Amino acid sequence: MLIGVLVLLAHSLGGLERLDLALQDLRTAKVHRPASGDIVFVAIDAKSLASVGTWPWSRRVHADLLDRFTEAGAAEVFFDIDFSFAGDAAGDRAFAEAIERAGNVSLPRFIQAERHGSARITQTRPQAAFGRVAWPVAANVSTDRSGLVRDYPFGRFAEDGFIPSAGAYLSGQYRETDGHFAINFAVDPATVPSVSATDVLAGRLPPEAVAGRIVVVGASAVELGDFFNVPVHGIVPGALVHILAAETLRQSLIIGELRIEVVVAALVGLLLLLQSPRLDRPARPLAALVLSLVASEALVFGLLVQANVTVPTALPYAALIGFTLWSLANQLDLRDLVIRMQRKEVKGAKDLLDQVFLDSFDARFLFDARENVLIQSQTATKMFGTAIRTASELPPNLHRAVRKAVGPDAPAAPSGMSKAVVTWDGKEHHIEYYVTPSSVVEPGEADVVTKRVATLSVRDVTLLREREREIAYLSSYDHLTGALRRNTFADFLTLRKMAGERFAVIALNLHRFKTINVVLGRDIGDAVLKATVARIERAGLGVSAVARLEGDAFAVFTEAAVDEAEAETLADRLGALVGDPFVIDGLLAKVDARVGYTLIEPADDADADTILSRVEAALDIARSTNAPRPLLYDAGRIERRDRARAIERGMETALQQGEFYVTYQPQHRVTDGKLIGSEALVRWTSARLGPVPPDDFIEIAESNGFIGELGPWVLRQALTDTQRLPGDLSVAVNVSAAQLLGTDVVNDVTHCLAETGFPADRLCLELTESVFALSSGEIVERMRDLQFMGATWALDDFGTGYASLGYLSSFPIEKLKLDRSFMTDLGSDPAALAIFLSVKSLCRGLGIKLLCEGVETAGQLEILRANGCDEAQGYLYGKPMAYEEFAAYVDRHGERPGKVS
Ligand code: C2E
Ligand code: CA
Ligand code: CA
Repeated sequence: MLIGVLVLLAHSLGGLERLDLALQDLRTAKVHRPASGDIVFVAIDAKSLASVGTWPWSRRVHADLLDRFTEAGAAEVFFDIDFSFAGDAAGDRAFAEAIERAGNVSLPRFIQAERHGSARITQTRPQAAFGRVAWPVAANVSTDRSGLVRDYPFGRFAEDGFIPSAGAYLSGQYRETDGHFAINFAVDPATVPSVSATDVLAGRLPPEAVAGRIVVVGASAVELGDFFNVPVHGIVPGALVHILAAETLRQSLIIGELRIEVVVAALVGLLLLLQSPRLDRPARPLAALVLSLVASEALVFGLLVQANVTVPTALPYAALIGFTLWSLANQLDLRDLVIRMQRKEVKGAKDLLDQVFLDSFDARFLFDARENVLIQSQTATKMFGTAIRTASELPPNLHRAVRKAVGPDAPAAPSGMSKAVVTWDGKEHHIEYYVTPSSVVEPGEADVVTKRVATLSVRDVTLLREREREIAYLSSYDHLTGALRRNTFADFLTLRKMAGERFAVIALNLHRFKTINVVLGRDIGDAVLKATVARIERAGLGVSAVARLEGDAFAVFTEAAVDEAEAETLADRLGALVGDPFVIDGLLAKVDARVGYTLIEPADDADADTILSRVEAALDIARSTNAPRPLLYDAGRIERRDRARAIERGMETALQQGEFYVTYQPQHRVTDGKLIGSEALVRWTSARLGPVPPDDFIEIAESNGFIGELGPWVLRQALTDTQRLPGDLSVAVNVSAAQLLGTDVVNDVTHCLAETGFPADRLCLELTESVFALSSGEIVERMRDLQFMGATWALDDFGTGYASLGYLSSFPIEKLKLDRSFMTDLGSDPAALAIFLSVKSLCRGLGIKLLCEGVETAGQLEILRANGCDEAQGYLYGKPMAYEEFAAYVDRHGERPGKVS
């Protein structure tokens, strides 16, 4: 009902009127009714204008036309032509006479209200001469708002009474009303018999064409401008409008309109029909709509054809369509519609999701609100060894999590990752899991249903944890010995340091461990390393776990606070512990330990790495110096070691760079003070390190073998220089133990003497007594070889080493050089004098000369002279000096004996 009201409202507002007319015209166009043929159109067409002449014509022409119609027996003649103005008198007269003769002529009047709705009317009448003899008809044609002629009047009331319209008059249907009727444009204008005026005038009109018929004369030439726009047919001459109106009346084709109430009643009936519950499926209302539209249209068209009744269908059609849409929307429900539309897609997506779920790397379960498994991944089945049917079959932690997620107070967001250790299959498993609560909207039977579900994802990380532990262990522990690895030890050191007490870190190294590897095999070597760690750890020394710093180096720190003495004792004990022979597989393995240690003071801000580098430096020195006792870290020592390394590196190029040179220190005979020769002492001024004293670099050169190069170089330099000096001065050249043992010193000296031609008997070779500790027949042999060539041997630094006096007799030594340390106390300490005197008598007994080094004062010299010392050397005479300086010295002392410069 509501819809009916709405539709009526829309109709009364005129919104559908145009649509109705358009629909009506469409239908009309389909009808095609023929004209009756009773009315003939005589057209004043272009052809007529061309043959008769320009418009307006003389009324004589019209008279001629009329006469022709009269002759042919026309029933009525209507001139749809404006005769309101006067023409030529003769023509007008002729026409008036012709009208009178014919007696059936009607002429148009145009009757109009001056203004719309006004009572006053204006008329355009034919000339009185014609009007008197012709029938007046109203020829008004009005158009609707869109400029189309649709309606036609029955007639008009004028001052002289009712004037019928042309159409009404010609149709013979006289109705005294100023009402209108709708022209039925189903009548095809093309079926109206039509003749050109010029043909009539030329006598070409067959009499039967007009006999007994109605003739309408009107303009059809475009120039005359008498045209109207009509529905269905477009633009037609005004005369034809009158003819069509007349036809409508004659054939009783007046279009009637069904009363709107009838239409509404029909509509309501239809709508009730459409609301039938049988039409509850969406396709049905649509089909019903189409059916009702088609049926209605057929009915309406039938009415038009059969009864010339038009039905205003725009309104009911709109209502039908609107209703159908409304009921469709109602029926489907928008949400439902969306779901239906998505369902197709959802089907595909669901398959995909199912697959993803099944293939999931983690164990995955989808639970419904009753904790039943809806779907589970293959991993899930594998993990638990069986397909799970309900959450209660899962370990309790997981069951609880699922229950919570599907329960009434399920959290909105997924739980975070939880970790747990759970047991199934009798085994412990480390798992990580999370639960995602959610709800699914599913299309149910009648409505959309929301269901609580939860996804549980479980990952078994047991193996991963094991691997992690393994890796952590491997990165913390040395896999061979089980000792801590260096970085782990460093971490512990950091913690130890934080205790804020003084503690010691002790490092030890298995001396000559490589030999064990080589001699006894790697397996025994490995066993020794393991045993070392085990021994320390079992000894209960109050130290940390053992760390393996590198191949055969280990370290510990004290767990208790210690002072320096305690640290040393502990270091000693450690060394001794490791020094005990190991018995492995019945084999005896003996390794000495080299031990370095360091004390960390609470105030010391050294970090673990620094502490480690200190204890390793101490160990390094203990190793390189072969220290039998633990070596305490000492910054100065490390500095020296570093300097030694710098020296070692610098030496390699120093010889080529000319950084070495030889100085000469004079040696004098004590009795008369005569200059007898010099000692050659090498000097090195390094470009990088500055002057480096021989005490610093000779030892390094000896240990790295550089002495094999440097020694011969000094020798050659000394021989060359001395040879250039006047007199027969001797030169003493130092030969280090390394030189004597490691190089072919005999060959070197022989070569040098030969090259320079220096007399061998003026060459003295100085050797320190430490050589004799390493005594071997080889040394003696070489010394004798050189002695045989004429060179003499002096024993240097006598009194500082451990040379037993017994050696003196077995070595070919001809001079003994008493170390300069004895000179210092010679004047003050009676013991020093006693030593000097005993050395003197020893020399005398062995028949060798005595030279005293380090003579700095005249007093010292005096004592030497008084006690029969042979030779002396020291700052008293002169410091070691460069060749030029020494040459000058030699000049000064020449042959003059005795004088001290
Ligand atoms: P050395 O052979 O005992 O040399 C004597 C050292 O005593 C020299 O030190 C010299 O400068 C120093 N000296 C001499 N008279 C006095 C004095 O009155 N008072 C004091 N306090 N010292 C005095 P230098 O030149 O520094 O040599 C040190 C050591 O380096 C030498 O001790 C020697 O063992 C070694 N050396 C020097 N040149 C050579 C060389 O060419 N070959 C080898 N193998 N060793 C060398
Ligand atoms: Ca010397
Ligand atoms: Ca010396």
